[in-house]
Amino acid sequence: MGCTANGVAAALRAAAEVVAEHRVELIELDRAIGDADHGENMNRGFTAIVSSLDQSMPGTPGAVLKLAATTLISKVGGAAGPLYGTGFLRAATAVGAESEVDVKAVAAALRAALEGVQARGKAVEGDKTMVDALLPAVAAAEQAAATEGADVAAVLTAAADAAAKGAESTVPLVARKGRASYLGERSAGHLDPGARSTALILGALAKAAR
Ligand code: ADP
Ligand code: MG
Ligand code: MG
Repeated sequence: MGCTANGVAAALRAAAEVVAEHRVELIELDRAIGDADHGENMNRGFTAIVSSLDQSMPGTPGAVLKLAATTLISKVGGAAGPLYGTGFLRAATAVGAESEVDVKAVAAALRAALEGVQARGKAVEGDKTMVDALLPAVAAAEQAAATEGADVAAVLTAAADAAAKGAESTVPLVARKGRASYLGERSAGHLDPGARSTALILGALAKAAR
């Protein structure tokens, strides 16, 4: 059993709710090592995704992901908008025109999203960015997808758990990309806001799939 366009849309709506609930937390994380707008940026973007879905619900999972991507790219400035937008766009392309995404397609979409974020932002593991959450999430998703009997919920849950750990791992790191890198050594001792939002979004997608 795979995930339909309605399933993907419901998961994105769930992610929008979680982003809204954590808006202030993301703002405060970004205040410590950035410019205190990550919660506002993400909330604006995901609120706009929900509006886009309300206006015109696409017919395939890939088209839903593409609508999310174009909405994020057009509505969210800063680093995170184009990075998440590129991630969703690559995921949309990976999923293609199929009417349902199965476990393998979910893992491939996450892999494509990671590759898009890295192509756009040039961050590698350990740079204290969203890549530190997304990269282990992709590895965990691929491992889960290769497990006999795994469903989409299991794959996304594995991804979300790994992303949460990956996000926590950014705390001691010194930032080498984005605004936080301007702080140098002073960026250490803080959770990266983008890694946190990635973990929150994957957590919401997993919960929606269960
Ligand atoms: P801005 O820094 O422009 O204000 P946001 O606050 O919305 O944008 O997003 C900041 C987050 O973006 C960071 O916490 C980090 O996770 C992520 N980020 C910044 N630069 C990069 C990059 N080059 N590659 C991957 N992620 C990045
Ligand atoms: Mg910011
Ligand atoms: Mg900013």
